[in-house]
Amino acid sequence: MSTTIQDQARFCDDDCAVVVLASFACRVCLSAPDLITLVGGPGQRLATSKCPSCRTLNRVSLSDAQAFRLWTLQRGNTFVHFPPEYW
Ligand SMILES: [Zn+2]
Repeated sequence: MSTTIQDQARFCDDDCAVVVLASFACRVCLSAPDLITLVGGPGQRLATSKCPSCRTLNRVSLSDAQAFRLWTLQRGNTFVHFPPEYW
């Protein structure tokens, strides 16, 4: 049984990596995701990640600028999958 939680990204497009990645922490247990999948074309970006600890599915909607900030960031252990069909 897993839950899906929908939220909106709250970082600015010039925030530092820690602040940006905090937007994608699990809404239930605050674990950092190990994989974020970015989907959706311009104006409808959506980041999806499954919590490695409690399996909650977290969805975060993003502006285009936020999506590119996430994509270009030094993300440490978090991998961002951004399929080429959405570039
Ligand atoms: Zn969790």
